[in-house]
Amino acid sequence: DTTHFGYQTVATKDKAGKVAEVFHSVAAKYDIMNDLMSMGIHRLWKRQTIASSGVRKGHRVLDLAGGTGDLTAKFSELVGDTGQVILGDINDSMLKVGREKLRNLGLVSNIEYVQMNAEALPFPDNSVDVITIAFGLRNVTDKDKALRSMYRILKPGGRLLVLEFSKPTHESLSKLYDFYSFNVLPTMGQLVANDSESYKYLAESIRMHPDQDTLKAMMVEAGFEQVDYQNMTGGIVALHRGFKY
Ligand code: SAM
Repeated sequence: DTTHFGYQTVATKDKAGKVAEVFHSVAAKYDIMNDLMSMGIHRLWKRQTIASSGVRKGHRVLDLAGGTGDLTAKFSELVGDTGQVILGDINDSMLKVGREKLRNLGLVSNIEYVQMNAEALPFPDNSVDVITIAFGLRNVTDKDKALRSMYRILKPGGRLLVLEFSKPTHESLSKLYDFYSFNVLPTMGQLVANDSESYKYLAESIRMHPDQDTLKAMMVEAGFEQVDYQNMTGGIVALHRGFKY
């Protein structure tokens, strides 16, 4: 099985174990590595996600695969005392780092931390206003199942935002980016986090993730309406949005 990038896909039976290993391993250094690897640009991608989220006072928001909680922190301010943000992640090491960081920022009252698998979300039907999944979907084994689960728990009128690496729109950018991710990233991972393997996984998982139009079609298939996407940084990243009516 290959993808549009021509790489072999990881056998799905190995995938969940590999993902768990990677995120247990990178949790402690996750934030600093994010800043280094993206040269801080991930903050802009996240800001754009928040701007497109429509989150407001009183909303119930799920920051799925929320990790160290960058989006949760902002949503916590936006939903106020009458709202709630749930930081959901499958990995307890990531959740622990996230909870500690947000508590140190003084954010406590309206945030819950719940260990969960995106493929089987532990919420009733029609119970969440907004779901975000930032740099998380590519790590999920059964993405279609996860998208259906997200659709199920959204309230009618609710929306899903998927922020994820995607396919660069220009060939020259694509080549440069390949070099960066397959050579520079693992080296950086080795130097800063003493862990080149995890950053090799990162580069591979990015290559294997569905491109912009494939992901759009998957969201439509899961039931989402008015699905669109916006490329950022030349398509290195795309923000997909879909609604439930
Ligand atoms: N959203 C955060 C951000 O943008 O900085 C963290 C992204 S981090 C690259 C990916 C996260 O997805 C990890 O914390 C990982 O544990 C989580 N994850 C992987 N597979 C998952 C699954 N099946 N269900 C929920 N979370 C998952």
